[in-house]
Amino acid sequence: MKCRKCGQRAVIKLRQHNLALCEEHFEEFFLNRVKKAIKDYRLFKRQDRLLIAVSGGKDSLTLWQVLSRLGYSVDGLHIDLGIEGYSAKSRKLTENFARNNGYRLIIVQAKEFLEGYTVPEASRILRRSPCSLCGLLKRYVMNRVGVEEGYDVLVTGHNMDDEAATLLGNILTWQEDYLKRQYPVLESTSEKFLKKVKPLVYLTEREVAAYAVLNGIDYIEEECPLSKGATSLEYKEVLNILESRHPGTKHRFLHEFLQKKPFGAPENLNLTNCSECGFPTTSTICSMCRTKRKLRGDFFDATPP
Ligand code: SF4
Ligand SMILES: [Zn+2]
Ligand SMILES: [Zn+2]
Repeated sequence: MKCRKCGQRAVIKLRQHNLALCEEHFEEFFLNRVKKAIKDYRLFKRQDRLLIAVSGGKDSLTLWQVLSRLGYSVDGLHIDLGIEGYSAKSRKLTENFARNNGYRLIIVQAKEFLEGYTVPEASRILRRSPCSLCGLLKRYVMNRVGVEEGYDVLVTGHNMDDEAATLLGNILTWQEDYLKRQYPVLESTSEKFLKKVKPLVYLTEREVAAYAVLNGIDYIEEECPLSKGATSLEYKEVLNILESRHPGTKHRFLHEFLQKKPFGAPENLNLTNCSECGFPTTSTICSMCRTKRKLRGDFFDATPP
């Protein structure tokens, strides 16, 4: 198999583009896809201060390196979730990566926001699914740390497979509100609500893994043990079956949705500031502060946080 551009030995075949590329031209292709997403969706400007959420997985570490190579000012934020057999390793790999590349990394422990409990402990106490609690915590912490540390934009490493699986899930359950908000950029609506962007939206999981391996990025390969049975993994499997039979399916499915935006733009939420922490919420007390109160056992609230 030869590289379509230079005739050297190809290292990857991209069936959806009907393209085989050598290492050098794959890297060029990869950086161009990220640049295209930044330009097409106006994700950020050259002078913006970016904060990237880094889990220790291939997507976030790869994106951190790519954005730095493209000359952006980008620091990392890692949240130690306290998940046995997973979080310590993720944290170590993230710290090593930051140190080896000379990047600035902020580390936050989930415990600091969960009344001293880890994500699994808090989820047991609250009888709430760990992923739902973890999702709430990550959204809150990433936004809050980003605002408090003076960043302009929060970057996440969601790739095309993640976004296509989320889209499929939202369509299967007709989550109209989520469908309106599913976009590679979510603008800031107040000074305490950071702009959020997804620059890997034009790259598949396989392409990101290939970049990481070719560039010697040491990332955590195991999935989080609490992800077992997650429907998002099943949606990915279904899409991968379709992709293997009809190359380009994932790209068409996601990008035609993003171009057509059949559900329109998200409505402006009536946000106020939480009476406890001061960060934006649609009610008097935000979901994170309600969760903390429940963990302290000093508040009964029938509303799910
Ligand atoms: S699988 Fe669930 S608990 Fe694990 S990191 Fe993802 S959201 Fe958090
Ligand atoms: Zn080549
Ligand atoms: Zn609050």
